[in-house]
Formats: sequence, structure tokens, C-alpha cells
Amino acid sequence: MDHSDSRHLQAQQQTPYYAEQGGEAALFAHAFEQKLPVLIKGPTGCGKTRFVEHMAARLGRPLITVSCHDDLSASDLVGRHLLTDGGTVWSDGPLTRAVRQGAICYLDEVVEARKDTTVVLHPLADDRRVLPIERTGEQISAAPGFMLVVSFNPGYQNVLKSLKPSTRQRFIALNFNYPAPEVELRIVAHEAGVDTLTAQKLVGLAQALRRLTEQDLEETVSTRLLVMAGRLVASGIALPTACQAAVIDALTDDAETAAALAEVAAAVL
Ligand code: ADP
Repeated sequence: MDHSDSRHLQAQQQTPYYAEQGGEAALFAHAFEQKLPVLIKGPTGCGKTRFVEHMAARLGRPLITVSCHDDLSASDLVGRHLLTDGGTVWSDGPLTRAVRQGAICYLDEVVEARKDTTVVLHPLADDRRVLPIERTGEQISAAPGFMLVVSFNPGYQNVLKSLKPSTRQRFIALNFNYPAPEVELRIVAHEAGVDTLTAQKLVGLAQALRRLTEQDLEETVSTRLLVMAGRLVASGIALPTACQAAVIDALTDDAETAAALAEVAAAVL
């Protein structure tokens, strides 16, 4: 094996597995080339994070991921002065590190973050590509490989929690959903290490549950839950027991709803 072969193999080994839903990898790669920030919309557990991990590896960029929550402020992203014995030192936050290194910065569930965070995102997400650091007076230009990627789950949003149009319109949007059955089957078989028949049953269950109306469930079964059920099966748990724990009881706390879901499961498995 010559040197380039071994490099190729190494890249393959380090690229997390991702089954494409339809054209999103090419779109993302072009957005990266064109230095356009990307917004990924989609329900929980449908592959958004895995996609970004996969693309970062393919594009050869480091990935810095921040899970946003309602207490996350601009300083959590940008950085802060820390007290030391000798006084104070500046410590870069994850966004600043990504800007300096030319990494891909992935802000997961960005609408959860406090409103002051959008102030730092705006100049980074347009042609300026700069990060102003108010505390130090610095203005950092993003290194060439820097890319801003944010995700959110439209299903969760209420009127108070949505992105302002001035923020949204700085991003190109990729719309994700649960994969088509044949793609989901490959994912479950690969990720859980189950045989095709088991993967088929799990995906069949997901299809049936996803047909239920939204009134029955706040959020329906994700690919992530199917993979978890599959892993239980692969480790020796019976399929119905695995589905009860990883799918039905994971989706609802309501006894009546759980019984209805169990009926659907019994018919499909
Ligand atoms: P999200 O970020 O949308 O909440 P994740 O990317 O964390 O979801 O996906 C959850 C899990 O589902 C992953 O860890 C992976 O096992 C599996 N998965 C979902 N979609 C895909 C896909 N298209 N290719 C490979 N694995 C996937």
C-alpha cells in the first residue's frame, strides 16, 4: 500500500457513517466552498448531528459542537476573562476557537440560546465573516475554513422561540426529515448491527407509528430510537421487549397512549 492509499484509508476510517437522504451532502459541500452558513431544520434524532460530523470529516475540517440551552449566553460562545492568581486571563469560547482555527462550528438547537447570542452570530453569518469581541475590543476575521452551521427542530418551536427573520435570512436552509424506509433500514442495520429482517420490522413499526396523528404524540419515533431498540436486540433482548422500552415507553408517559402504541406494535412485529 503506498502513502496515498493509507491516507485514503485513514480518511475513510475517520469519516462517521452517514446514509444520505437526497443531495444534502453536495449542497453542504457547495455551501462550504461558497462560505455560506447553513441552517438544518428537522425533528430530533433524524440524523442532523451525524450529517454535520460526516461532512466535517469529508471536508477535512475540525468540528466544534455546542448544544444550546436557555441559559447559553454570548459569552459562553465567545469567551470570558478568568480569574487567576496573577490577575485575569482571557479564555476563548468555542465559537472564537472555531473562528480562529477555521473549524466548522455547529450550534445544535440554536433557538434555545439566549437572544444576545444572535448579536455575535450576525457579522459572522454574512459577507463580513468577523467576530467582534466586545470585552477585549478585538475583531477577529474568520479563518478560511470556518463555517457556521446551526440546527433547530421546528416541531418544538412556539411563537416566542423562533429565529428572527434577520437571522434566518443569513443562512441557506436544509430541510431534514426521517429517512425514507429503505434508507432507514440501512441505517438501523448498520448502526445497531442487526440483521435485515429485524431492521425491516423496526422500520415497519416506525412507519406505522408515524402514521398516527400528531394529537396522539408530541413527537414521533425517531431513527435514533430505532437504533437504540436495535442495539438492545443485537445484545440479546427480545424484539417486543426492546420496542416497549426503546420506543413506546420512550415516547409517552401516558398509560392509554402507551397501550394504543403497544397495539400497533403487536400488529406489526
Ligand atoms: P439529530 O442530530 O437530528 O437529533 P443524530 O444525528 O444524533 O440526530 O442521529 C441519531 C442517531 O441516528 C445517530 O447517532 C445515528 O446512529 C442514527 N442516524 C440517523 N440518521 C442517520 C443517517 N442518515 N446516517 C447514519 N446514521 C443516522
